[in-house]
Amino acid sequence: GSIDLTDPAQRAHYAQRLAELIETHREAYYQHDAPTVSDAEYDELVKRLQDLERQYPELVSDRSPTQTVGGAVDTSTFAEVRHLARMYSLDNVFSIEELGAWFTRVEKAVPVDTRYLCELKIDGLAVNLLYENGELVRAATRGDGRTGEDITANVRTLSDVPARLTTEHPPAQVEVRGEVFFPVEQFAELNAALVEEGKSPFANPRNAAAGSLRQKDAAVTARRPLRMLVHGIAAWTPADAEHTEPAAQSEVYEQLRTWGLPISDYFRVFDDRQEIEAFIAHYGDHRDSVLHEIDGVVLKVDDLATQEELGYTSRAPRWAIAYKYPPEEVTTTLLDIQVQV
Ligand code: NAD
Repeated sequence: GSIDLTDPAQRAHYAQRLAELIETHREAYYQHDAPTVSDAEYDELVKRLQDLERQYPELVSDRSPTQTVGGAVDTSTFAEVRHLARMYSLDNVFSIEELGAWFTRVEKAVPVDTRYLCELKIDGLAVNLLYENGELVRAATRGDGRTGEDITANVRTLSDVPARLTTEHPPAQVEVRGEVFFPVEQFAELNAALVEEGKSPFANPRNAAAGSLRQKDAAVTARRPLRMLVHGIAAWTPADAEHTEPAAQSEVYEQLRTWGLPISDYFRVFDDRQEIEAFIAHYGDHRDSVLHEIDGVVLKVDDLATQEELGYTSRAPRWAIAYKYPPEEVTTTLLDIQVQV
């Protein structure tokens, strides 16, 4: 039906309804690896709620899906793991205009020459690796950002993930963040095999990655051609005082590479907006040239001190943004709520 947003009770009800729908979709996506709507439709719902909350700030609460990291722990299958440092989501923009507004916000907050690292947004699932004295001791899903699922046995089956860091002087403790994905090339083959076994196929490679990794039996994971790329460091405790910490995101990647961890070949640092726009346009046109699905480009302020200065909201860093590409597949709008403004 039609909603009168000038009526506080009606708009509160509408916000509530949107939040419930988003939570239902999150559960299907994160818990069951089986989404019932497309990512674009999900993003559209979130955007509607964000816009509504922006217009009527009294509707914002800590528990709103606009303020939380989606995901939870399936305690029936996995042990709970508390991350040493929080895992965040990313804020999205969907156009060059919205990206421009983000640059303006960043450059207003930190009025220095800002360089941006641009990289591909890997459409997989976020995984946290904990190395202690160079040994992989734990791997976990993101969950709600504070607590995730223990998938150590599963992650140990990935050949991309070293059991020990290749360094004489490993940190006492370090969390490495990355993305596990299912190579696009092998996706059709997996679904054909599943159908042959009488099982349900996966909706897309992202869900195939999540479904393959989140298995009670790690032997199932071992048979799937999962890959991983890492893109961040957290909770770094050096073994001794004598070490040089990276000063930029790009240096973090060099450090990760030195440790023998798999980093993407596709990151570039720019200080020019036109070059950034060209990077975005290029990979928008060449999404099929990469091993994994790309749902956008991630931009990160390169300088780590500036990142720290910018900090985080309750769900995402202020120093990074995801530029989301328009969906490749044709979508239908399952949602039918008319809004009267
Ligand atoms: P997100 O996927 O938009 O962005 C955050 C994540 O991006 C991080 O956790 C990180 O793991 C990942 N990432 C990939 N490449 C990265 C890189 N190079 N650098 C840093 N991080 C990188 O946000 P989210 O909160 O994980 O999920 C929301 C998105 O998931 C939605 O926009 C939608 O696409 C999808 N989703 C879909 C449904 C559905 O029902 N279809 C439901 C929930 C979520």
